[in-house]
Amino acid sequence: MPTMGALHKGHISLIEQSSAQNSLTVCSIFVNPTQFNNKEDFKHYPITIEKDIEELNYAGCSILFLPTEAEIYPTNYLSVHYELGKLESILEGYYRPGHFQGVCQVVDRLLSIVNPHNIYIGQKDYQQCMVIKRLIELLGKSGQIQINIAPTIREKDGLAMSSRNLRLTNDQRSKALTIYTELSAIKEHLNEEPLDQLKKEAIRHLQEAGFFVDYVEIANAETLEPAANKKEQLVALIAASLGDVRLIDNISLN
Ligand code: AMP
Repeated sequence: MPTMGALHKGHISLIEQSSAQNSLTVCSIFVNPTQFNNKEDFKHYPITIEKDIEELNYAGCSILFLPTEAEIYPTNYLSVHYELGKLESILEGYYRPGHFQGVCQVVDRLLSIVNPHNIYIGQKDYQQCMVIKRLIELLGKSGQIQINIAPTIREKDGLAMSSRNLRLTNDQRSKALTIYTELSAIKEHLNEEPLDQLKKEAIRHLQEAGFFVDYVEIANAETLEPAANKKEQLVALIAASLGDVRLIDNISLN
């Protein structure tokens, strides 16, 4: 499973799932520069490697792959463009230009080095899951690599666990749970209110809590395009920042 470290219980749940289902589990930790569209975010990305190693041992991980940048991107590395279609220009793709090309570059390299039968990824990064699905199709590896999407692990109050939560101040931390409160409210009221109204109310509540909102979207669970009606399989997704910490989360609706 690919990670950027600063491991928390969300990551560990993936390791546990993998080690229960496979004889060998490989976890990579690599803070991939090519997927950061924001240099400050990259510079401040938390690194807790000693604690990570302890937790990986405890969770039954067989191999930690801790590559240097030169191993992932050697001087003769040729970057290719991955045809991700609309997935790349909407939601995270729109707000983080180049991000998913960077994700595909690193996952492509990791897959070719590790050559796994199973890959474990978290629903927390919903659009990334769809992108990795597409990548594996593009690489012609759908028959060889099984994708396992694991549920989002949350703090007691509902905030999705994220390495970026470490950067929240106490005050921001108490406001951060509004993202999950609003996702839950959308799910609860889905059949009572029009989609537009549900989105507008969530945006208003997030702004009142001090968030700068990138998007609140109710989307088709497969294409991630804005939902036209409530009969499709739907997912609600939010991206919003508190200060310079940007958080994302989502919830399946039906
Ligand atoms: P990251 O280190 O943020 O790149 O995440 C590595 C993997 O862990 C990705 O597949 C994420 O979707 C997954 N992940 C991150 N946070 C959570 C969470 N709270 N619950 C479950 N999986 C998670």
